[in-house]
This record gives sequence, C-alpha cells and structure tokens, in this order.
Amino acid sequence: MAGALPYTAPVSPTDCLFCRIVAGEIPATVVRETGTTLAFRDIDPKAPVHVLVIPKEHYADVATLAQDDPGLTAEVLATAAAVAEDEGLLGDGFRLMFNTGAYGGQEVFHVHAHLLGGAPLGPMLA
Ligand code: ADP
Repeated sequence: MAGALPYTAPVSPTDCLFCRIVAGEIPATVVRETGTTLAFRDIDPKAPVHVLVIPKEHYADVATLAQDDPGLTAEVLATAAAVAEDEGLLGDGFRLMFNTGAYGGQEVFHVHAHLLGGAPLGPMLA
C-alpha cells in the first residue's frame, strides 16, 4: 500500500523525547552509536534485553522513514543487528518491531525499533 499512514505525529522534533536523548539533554544507557543511529536501553524493559534503536534524525514512524530515507532505514536495521550480536541474541533469536500509530500502540513519535530478547517471548498476538 503506497502513501503515508493517515495520522499526524503529535509532537514536533523540538519537544521530542528521543530527539532530546540524541542531543544529550535526557540521559539514556547507550549501547551503540553510529553517525546516524543510536541504540539505548528501554527505561521500562519488557524482556531481559530491551533496546530501542533510532535514527538520530527525527522521523515520526517507520512508514515515514522507509518512504523518505530507505538508506537510513537500512542503517537502523544494521545497528539493531549489531546490538543483537553484542547482546548475544543471534543464537536463540530475538524480536525486532516497530509499533506504528494509534492501532500499533506507538507512544513516542520518533521512530524506534524495539529489540527484545534474552528469553522466549511467546506469540505476538496473545
Ligand atoms: P509503547 O510504550 O506502547 O511500547 P512505543 O512503541 O512508542 O510505545 O515505545 C516507547 C518506548 O519508549 C517504551 O517501551 C518506553 O518504555 C520507552 N521509553 C520512554 N521513555 C524512555 C526513556 N527516557 N529512555 C528509554 N526508554 C524510554
């Protein structure tokens, strides 16, 4: 399906929580940083390993990011894969997901991949 998702991001980059983490204004436990991406531990982990991977540049959600900058999308995925390796998740596996929009349960409108692992996670839709 082409075209942007039918909702508008409720925050601007200037008051975006994750932009403020990128800027160093809010502390985070950073596990990997590249020129264009940042990976940091989720403040409320849902699994033994729960890392958020973001582009430093502000995009509201994964649909916008993928449509506007496929190269940066790939960089986010590459950073997530590197963190998965660093965290020892490649053998047993992990989950990588982008909550998107209201129905997807997205609460922070700066695109972020949830990297979850370290234990069996069960089915996605229980
Ligand atoms: P949901 O909360 O439904 O998972 P999102 O997909 O938008 O919604 O995820 C936002 C994530 O950001 C949550 O997992 C939350 O725990 C995390 N979070 C919120 N504030 C911080 C913070 N300051 N540092 C790290 N993670 C944070």
